[in-house]
Amino acid sequence: MKAIYPGSFNPLTIGHLDIIKRMNAMYDEVIVAILINEGKKHFFSLEERKEMIMKEIQNNNLDKVTVMTFEGLLVNFAKQVGSKIVVRGLRAVTDYEYETKIALFNSSLYPGLETVFLLSDPRYSYISSSGVREVAHFKGDVSPYVTKNVEQEIKKKFY
Ligand code: ADP
Repeated sequence: MKAIYPGSFNPLTIGHLDIIKRMNAMYDEVIVAILINEGKKHFFSLEERKEMIMKEIQNNNLDKVTVMTFEGLLVNFAKQVGSKIVVRGLRAVTDYEYETKIALFNSSLYPGLETVFLLSDPRYSYISSSGVREVAHFKGDVSPYVTKNVEQEIKKKFY
């Protein structure tokens, strides 16, 4: 079974990494799919985000995980790579509302496509990329939310 974990990952947080590790234990193949969103160019570039995720995959020996980028509809990407499983993380009720809408759209666009929700580890359920960007913007301490490597990249680029 091949599963896709789509997102912006701008930047990757320890909450995302936890989901990726859990997926590595669940599926034969895992594709972390970074959405190319031209409207959202701030913070890290696509290439920088990809690099950071690949480094964590190496550091954690996540041998089933690869990183790709995609543009346009997720369902088209899923067809392209031959997967019918999309995994999303759920942190709070607000995620649930937003995610169920998208999941229903996706399954109506691509019948048979399943969206699997993994509950966020409660230790990380408050962590978001937008929160990390906000803290980084004011040069605060991002170490509780990201890995050492991502922390270094943030410091190099913004501090
Ligand atoms: P998007 O811009 O598509 O919401 P994100 O990069 O913010 O992408 O998130 C990608 C996925 O990871 C989403 O399913 C999101 O709910 C999940 N996620 C984000 N932060 C966490 C966290 N702290 N714990 C678990 N899942 C998370």
